Amino acid sequence: MPGETLEDALRESATLAARGVPALVTMLGENVETDHETRAIVQAYADGVRLIQERELDVEISIKPTQLGLDLDAQLTYDNVSALATSIGDSGTLWIDMEGTDYTQRTLELFRALRRNHSNIGLCLQSYLRRTAEDLETLLPLDPRIRLVKGAYAEPQNLAFPDKREVDANYLSLARRLIAHMADGGGGFLGIGTHDRSMTTTLVDEAKRAGLTKRNFEVEMLYGIGLAEQERLVRESSPLRVLISYGSAWFPWYMRRLAERPANVWFVVRSIVR
Ligand SMILES: Cc1cc2nc3c(=O)[nH]c(=O)nc-3n(C[C@H](O)[C@H](O)[C@H](O)COP(=O)(O)OP(=O)(O)OC[C@H]3O[C@@H](n4cnc5c(N)ncnc54)[C@H](O)[C@@H]3O)c2cc1C
Repeated sequence: MPGETLEDALRESATLAARGVPALVTMLGENVETDHETRAIVQAYADGVRLIQERELDVEISIKPTQLGLDLDAQLTYDNVSALATSIGDSGTLWIDMEGTDYTQRTLELFRALRRNHSNIGLCLQSYLRRTAEDLETLLPLDPRIRLVKGAYAEPQNLAFPDKREVDANYLSLARRLIAHMADGGGGFLGIGTHDRSMTTTLVDEAKRAGLTKRNFEVEMLYGIGLAEQERLVRESSPLRVLISYGSAWFPWYMRRLAERPANVWFVVRSIVR
């Protein structure tokens, strides 16, 4: 993270923009407990949208449904996300993160309801879930904007593939399904949300060969991770967007990042000692 405030995230977005890399920003925090808190978060994001538009930055926003009320009430969440989508208008996509499996079904329902009234909504899907292939099939008629990731939560084996090879194979298969849909004239968008170089190399190549451009796909990576790969993509003029997180509620998010790569614990300890 470049810092805890929106201003920190936007400052770093401007630095990335100077290198030709657009950004995606997200305010850390999940599972809020009152309507009042969700409305404060909507207001904070709306202020961010205004600054992004004033500064003419190519910066999109990604929200967590539980941050905007999914634990409290479906209609409240719809109203909150819908208000943000309206304030963004044509200037970009409002992305919905996918959280743990307690929320998958409700998040898909939220996305479908929002798509009826907004064209600028994107959804994250996770390739570690057994259900995702079927979910993608049912979403394709909506020409969906999808960010595909492997998945970051600890899930039981009956819901998620325990074997990384299956997660990776499913990732390729899901991405190819969406690329084929767009190559056949369908609408939509594929965000290749991974640092896995074999996935990005293969899928960028396949998307380009299918005639897709940055209007239909991009690689999406986390700020500060896989920097050599980010530089390679920029050098090759492959579309790349970097997700920058900000906010004070970083603890659960960092724990997920450490869990998926324990070597980072030593990286953090070394940085603190230094
Ligand atoms: C833009 C974006 C948005 C995301 N949104 C969501 C979401 O909404 N819901 C969700 O469940 N998950 C989300 N994730 C996280 C995702 O599910 C994975 O947990 C995360 O991307 C790590 O897996 P990987 O795809 O990079 O592949 P892996 O196969 O896990 O890793 C491939 C290589 O990437 C590098 N790498 C991966 N993670 C790290 C790390 N933390 N530190 C340093 N190097 C690393 C390593 O070199 C590793 O060998 C998002 C990821 C990205 C990039």
